[in-house]
Amino acid sequence: MTQQFERRATRLLRDHDALSPPVDVEALARTLGMSVNFEELDSDVSGLMLIEDGHVKVAINAAHHRHRQRFTLAHEIGHMLLHVTGDRVFVDRRFFRNEWSSKGELREEIEANAFAAALLMPGLLIRQHVDAKKGITDIDVFRLATLFAVSEQAMTLRLVKLNYIEPD
Ligand SMILES: [Zn+2]
Repeated sequence: MTQQFERRATRLLRDHDALSPPVDVEALARTLGMSVNFEELDSDVSGLMLIEDGHVKVAINAAHHRHRQRFTLAHEIGHMLLHVTGDRVFVDRRFFRNEWSSKGELREEIEANAFAAALLMPGLLIRQHVDAKKGITDIDVFRLATLFAVSEQAMTLRLVKLNYIEPD
């Protein structure tokens, strides 16, 4: 499942000539036909996506940090490509919450996050900027997070996933 997301994200970036850091996720979303707006939303809501009659409207929380906004938009792209079959509404909050009614919804959130990470931090590009033999320091994490325009937390999780660093 994970491998499939990695491949799909990389192919998408390559097809749209976007395979370089920082990935221009907003341009990609617009190319994919999404209308993206930055709006005032409840502080715990990262983003909303409304899909109606084939039109995809995304609202991103205007008050959030740019890195978080980028991840949210990448997450919505994941939902659109992986989960949408008809009209739907997605409401994305920062943390997994009990309100998710079914295991199916939780699975979709995990998948959208995995896709978002692969889209914003493609393994192919990370490898070009990491010297695995030297080991990765906190400074490297900071440098990579800046280069890819993601949070240090997101980059750390990604480096764990790609087996560059040990989980805590
Ligand atoms: Zn979601």
